[in-house]
Amino acid sequence: MKRNVLLGCIADDFTGATDLANNLVRGGMRVVQVIGIPSRPLDVPADAVVVALKSRTIAPAEAQAQSLEALRWLKGHGAGQIYFKYCSTFDSTAQGNIGPVTEALMDALGTDFTIATPAFPENQRTVFKGHLFVGDVLLSDSGMRDHPLTPMTDSNLVRVLQAQCRRKVGLIDYRAVAQGEAAIRARLAQLRTDGVAIAIVDALTNEDLLRLGPALNDMLLLTAGSGVAIGLPPNFGLVPSGASATLPAAGGARAVVSGSCSQATQRQVRAFAAAGYPAFAVDPLRAACGDVVGQVLAWARPLLPGGPVLAYSTAQAHAVRAVQGRLGVQEAGELVERTMAQIACGLVDLGVRQLVIAGGETSGACVQALGVDLLQIGPQIAPGVPWCWGRDDAGRALHLALKSGNFGDDDFFGKAFTILQ
Ligand code: ADP
Repeated sequence: MKRNVLLGCIADDFTGATDLANNLVRGGMRVVQVIGIPSRPLDVPADAVVVALKSRTIAPAEAQAQSLEALRWLKGHGAGQIYFKYCSTFDSTAQGNIGPVTEALMDALGTDFTIATPAFPENQRTVFKGHLFVGDVLLSDSGMRDHPLTPMTDSNLVRVLQAQCRRKVGLIDYRAVAQGEAAIRARLAQLRTDGVAIAIVDALTNEDLLRLGPALNDMLLLTAGSGVAIGLPPNFGLVPSGASATLPAAGGARAVVSGSCSQATQRQVRAFAAAGYPAFAVDPLRAACGDVVGQVLAWARPLLPGGPVLAYSTAQAHAVRAVQGRLGVQEAGELVERTMAQIACGLVDLGVRQLVIAGGETSGACVQALGVDLLQIGPQIAPGVPWCWGRDDAGRALHLALKSGNFGDDDFFGKAFTILQ
């Protein structure tokens, strides 16, 4: 049965999609995340649908085409407002894809104005005078400068986005945001008069995002990290409620697959192994020439009845660079993603039904390989990371936690399984 969706979201990677969905669920919206553009109509009730693409690092034209197809499906389900979600560290290359996708969506929606802000202060992402801070440091001084695929070396988001856009990019600074809806609307009007089409928005606290929400009520397109979502449910008359996060009961064996090389994930891998859980380091160079997947699964099989296991390619920046030097940047990324996805599928064949996946691209590759196409969003493990529930292409029910690299405390992997018990 076709149902009307209030808010239609397009996310440029899988963990980003769940991060956004998590915020909407916390605000009282029932949220379904679909993996890729659905081939069938929605058959479960949802106030918001998040279409999870894997478009962050593909060619800009392809990212635009996929985003426009997602837009058509969402509009077909009645979505009146569209939210393009990207990473809270504004992950992009000089070519895009944040700018090109934003402009393609603006063209398709016939709108002349939108906002762009990755701010989410609760998650240590603040924007001040257009500059993005990750915790206490500028984006360009954070671990993101060493990201394998989208190294971020400029913290000035107006400059970063302008380089990717034909339209003029401006700024709604913290002073307007602090004064609330009327001041924000006045600034929006001023920017429009000045010929600006896309406004970076400062936010220093979560309250800034809550103040921003009402000013976005009538904007056809929003582009943001997941933070802006906390201010939106009241626009649809919704309030927080635990009922929006209920999932079926969990069972089966437990495992973690980690292909993220972020500093947070490196700490989480070390903490999990130090807590005594079995951990297998996947060497990309051996994956290039041997049967690493078979080795991991043979290792995991006898261990799984005893508790969760971890398979990881997570490595420090110098080790990643060495592998990229041997295989090429893109080739290394794809090889590792393919390998981790095969490991995830093999673990499910061995009876794993509670699976934590670390890494945005890695999660995308794993979920695609498992053939999971729809996820119900459940309770939060850490800010930005909820447990999700769905079925793989063999109809097996899986609880999945898809963790973006930078998210979660050091004990995230162990804590995730505790929350599900
Ligand atoms: P994050 O969420 O931390 O950005 P992603 O999974 O999105 O994590 O991106 C990490 C990228 O690095 C993936 O393409 C992954 O395949 C690649 N990768 C992971 N481990 C290694 C490694 N040891 N050497 C080279 N590339 C790696």
